[in-house]
Amino acid sequence: MERTSSISVIGAGVAGLASAIELSGRGFAVEILDRAARLGEGACSWMAGGMLAPWCERATTDEIVAQRGEPSLDWWRRHFPGTVSNGSLVVAPARDAADLTRFAARTERHEWLDADQIAALEPDLSGRFRRALFFRDEAHLDPRAALAALAAELAARHVPIRFGTEVDGLADQKGMIVDCRGLAARDVLPDLRGVRGEMIVVRTRDISLSRPVRLLHPRIPLYIVPRGDGRFMIGATMVESEERRAVTVRSAVELLNAAYTLHPAFGEAEIVELGADLRPAFPDNLPQVRRRGRVLHANGLYRHGFLLAPWLAREVADVVSAETGNADIPERRRA
Ligand SMILES: Cc1cc2nc3c(=O)[nH]c(=O)nc-3n(C[C@H](O)[C@H](O)[C@H](O)COP(=O)(O)OP(=O)(O)OC[C@H]3O[C@@H](n4cnc5c(N)ncnc54)[C@H](O)[C@@H]3O)c2cc1C
Repeated sequence: MERTSSISVIGAGVAGLASAIELSGRGFAVEILDRAARLGEGACSWMAGGMLAPWCERATTDEIVAQRGEPSLDWWRRHFPGTVSNGSLVVAPARDAADLTRFAARTERHEWLDADQIAALEPDLSGRFRRALFFRDEAHLDPRAALAALAAELAARHVPIRFGTEVDGLADQKGMIVDCRGLAARDVLPDLRGVRGEMIVVRTRDISLSRPVRLLHPRIPLYIVPRGDGRFMIGATMVESEERRAVTVRSAVELLNAAYTLHPAFGEAEIVELGADLRPAFPDNLPQVRRRGRVLHANGLYRHGFLLAPWLAREVADVVSAETGNADIPERRRA
C-alpha cells in the first residue's frame, strides 16, 4: 500500500539510496535528487573500500559501531547479492607482531590462525605471516556495484533518481525532505567536517585473495580489498584535512608499500586508479539523523558509509513513519 506523503531524498550516495530503499519499502512515495550527471560522480561513496567489518572496527571505534553495524551484513546480502561473506583477515609484519596481540585485545569475534591455517585460507599468502586474526563473520562488497544494485532496486520500485538536479535551498522543496548530501550539507550542519581519505586501485593476475586483508602498520591501518577480475583496492589514509587535492606522493608510497609488504607480486601490478575524497564526520565520528521542521538530515557516516548506512536509513524511515503517525519525534537522534 503506497502512503500519500511524498518524500524527496537529496543525494544518491549510499546514505540517500539506502534511505530511499527503506522509505519505499515502508510504502512512501519517494524521489531522489542528485546534482551529479550519473551515479557515483562526486559522491564519497564511490571511493569507499566496501568493508563490512563491525568487529575489526572495534579496534578504533566505539562499540556502538559494531552494534549498529552487525545487522548491516544481512541488509546488504538482501539488497546486493554480490556481497561476499568470506570474513576478513588481519596480519602484521614480523617486527609488528605485538600490534596484532593489541588488536586482538581490542576486538572480538576473531580467531587466531597459524601459518598453515593462513595458507589454507589464502594460498597466495602461504609462508608470508606466522600468525593472523580471522574475523569469520565479516563481509565485503564492491561499493560501485552495490550502489548500482540499490539504484536498480529503486528503479524496479518506480522510485526515480533525478540526476543533474542541484538542490540549492532545502526550504524551496515541497513535502518532507531527507538531506543526504554528505559533506555538501555543511551549509546547514556547521559541525560536519571532512576527513580526507585516499585509495589506489591496482590490477594483477599474479595474486588472488578471497577476502579483505588488513595490514597493521605503525602509522596507518591499511587494507587491501579484492574487487574481482584481478583488481584490488588499497586503502585508506585518514587525514584530518579538508584539502580536495589528488593523492599525495607520501600516501601513494605508504599504500603501495603496504601492498608490497603483503605480497611482492603487487610490485608488478598496474595502477588503475588513484582517488581521494572527504568523509563526512560529526565531532564524535558517529552518524546522526537530525530533524529540523520538514527536513531530516542524515549524515556523518565517516569511515563507516556502507557499514552504517542501513542503520541510518532505518532511523530515517522510523522518524518519517512516526511523523506521519503523529508520534512524538525526538528533535535529534544519534548513533
Ligand atoms: C578512501 C575512502 C575509503 C572508505 N572506505 C570505506 C569502507 O571501507 N567502508 C565504509 O563503510 N565506508 C568507507 N568510506 C566512507 C564512505 O565512503 C562515506 O562514509 C560515505 O560514502 C558517505 O556517504 P554519503 O551518502 O553520506 O555521501 P556521498 O557519497 O558523498 O553522497 C552525497 C551525494 O549528494 C549529492 N549532492 C551533494 N550536494 C547536492 C545538492 N546540493 N543537490 C543535489 N545533490 C547533491 C552528491 O552528488 C552525492 O551523490 C571510505 C571513504 C573514503 C574516502
